Amino acid sequence: MVVAATHRSCHVLGPGNRYALWVQGCPFRCPGCVSPQWLAFTGGKRLAVDDLVLDIVSFAVDGLTVSGGEPFAQAAGLVALVRQIRQSRDLSLCCYTGYTLEALRRGSPAQRELLGLVDLLVDGPYVRSRHAPLRWRASTNQRLHVLTDRHLDVLTEPDDPAGLQIEIGPDGEAQWLGVPHTPGFREALAAAADLVESRDA
Ligand code: SF4
Repeated sequence: MVVAATHRSCHVLGPGNRYALWVQGCPFRCPGCVSPQWLAFTGGKRLAVDDLVLDIVSFAVDGLTVSGGEPFAQAAGLVALVRQIRQSRDLSLCCYTGYTLEALRRGSPAQRELLGLVDLLVDGPYVRSRHAPLRWRASTNQRLHVLTDRHLDVLTEPDDPAGLQIEIGPDGEAQWLGVPHTPGFREALAAAADLVESRDA
């Protein structure tokens, strides 16, 4: 699999404390995408499914969230990954996609097989003009589908944003995870960092 990033403890992309996996490469180009660095199919790290499974099974708490990039562009690899994980741990799977649920139901055999393993699906491309503070998603066209009975409670909970998770890494660099409340968050952050750098120069 070609992976952009992983995080062993994410509280803002699906219910509970989840292992987050971002795949590299996406066929869509949504203006204002929050992960522009992960859209090219040429970057990322090539990781063996066995190694990823070991890390996820060892460190995931409540489930696995897969985002990107476009998870359904690596559907066969993710099917192998999730099937192998579930041989030892029955983890829930939350998945983000730029495709609609209807398109995936007409997708390739591997895409349909992956869809059959997903418990919660956030579907549809990000549309900047429809940005809104929603639970685990960013624009009003994106839907949260509860596809199994594992997370039925989600249906009755408020559709409020989960917020951002901000951490300082060992190198002192700040890292954030989650779905920003406002459009242009990444650009605003970069502009603020430039301002601080030029002030300190
Ligand atoms: S589908 Fe998602 S990852 Fe791909 S361009 Fe759109 S927002 Fe970005």
